Amino acid sequence: MDYQVSEKVKDTFYKLLSMPEVKKALSYIQADAPKSIEEQKKLTLIEAPTFFEDERAEAYAEKLKALGLSDVHVDEFKNAVGVLKGNGSGPVIMVEAHLDTVFPKGSVKEVVEKDGVLYAPGIVDDTRGLAVVLSALRGLKESGLSTLGDIYFVGTAREEGMGALGGMEDFLKTHPELNGTISVDGAWTEGITFEATGIQTYAVNFYGIGGHAYGAFGQMANPLHAAARAVAKIADFQVPASPRTTFCVSNFHAGNDAGIHAIVPKATIKFNFRSNSEEELMKLKKRIFDAIQEACDEETARWGKDTITWDYEHYCDIHAGNQDIHAPIVEAAYLAAKKCSEDPEKVYFSQGGSVNGNRSVARGIPAVTLGGGLTDTKCHNLEEFYPMKDSWRLPQEVLLMILMAAGVEGRTDSIL
Ligand SMILES: [Zn+2]
Repeated sequence: MDYQVSEKVKDTFYKLLSMPEVKKALSYIQADAPKSIEEQKKLTLIEAPTFFEDERAEAYAEKLKALGLSDVHVDEFKNAVGVLKGNGSGPVIMVEAHLDTVFPKGSVKEVVEKDGVLYAPGIVDDTRGLAVVLSALRGLKESGLSTLGDIYFVGTAREEGMGALGGMEDFLKTHPELNGTISVDGAWTEGITFEATGIQTYAVNFYGIGGHAYGAFGQMANPLHAAARAVAKIADFQVPASPRTTFCVSNFHAGNDAGIHAIVPKATIKFNFRSNSEEELMKLKKRIFDAIQEACDEETARWGKDTITWDYEHYCDIHAGNQDIHAPIVEAAYLAAKKCSEDPEKVYFSQGGSVNGNRSVARGIPAVTLGGGLTDTKCHNLEEFYPMKDSWRLPQEVLLMILMAAGVEGRTDSIL
């Protein structure tokens, strides 16, 4: 990948790497790997489905407290929060990983360890991220260095699914003083996410009178047919490959077997659409809702009676945002990823993504999300697994990002 990093970011990075305190912190993190793995296993056993993060949030807050952070608490949004004070002369930074997993309670019975691999639902996404942040924090403490800016360490609630990056959004809303955020989502050092993919998720209900499939035939329109017409229209949409724009009808429901000989009075479709461009996202939204209206009009006109109507529920409302690929925080992440990856050639920028960093980028706050990689560890799947080899690489990367973003007292400025 041909990617040039500015002199300022490079200078800061190599200055940090040459400091004995930083070297000490990096080797400390390497030695800390077994402890970090133990923490990861224990946290995995505290199940935390989205919206039910309370217990894990308390446990994470305990850990932040034990590491000497100030003002440790679980906030009103179920985020576990602690602050590492700087001297107040630098930017305020947030370092976070998400508490929740996609699995319902009862999914995790144990963490199975076999041939250097851990198996358990949520072992990577994002329990590994939580453990990584703690290990990076221990490395920072061990270095004896103080930062210029204050750093919030946060375990965030409601990242996944219907949580829609909610804990992060709530934290940003209530902390306007933030100047940069570093998210850790996953277990690897290669992938860097710096763009915000917008996501819109809706349910649309189609309504008609409903009646007997034989007796009422011809007397009314069919909301299920209207929904099917809408899906057929959406299915044929062409969308740009760049900026990447996608859509998917993911749920279609109407009727039941008891009423199998009925024209149903209601049909529901659920769909989501995404784009790295807010403009494309809004264009697609208009096309989809126009198609829904057309489908209802056609079904109504087909029978000449019984107007099909519709309404909607809006589930996820995440806006797209752009950040310059040469924003200092992105350049810093590139250098840190190269330094900490086993194969520096594999470092890459993700094309968008649905991660907590989106919320910052959409607000114009410099942000990167780390932890992505090319290894498929079956995240969001009951067979999820984590190969433990070189687990120290990602916490090292996170530590270097923290030092670059927050600045080191008496030594380096923030790159922000
Ligand atoms: Zn995640």
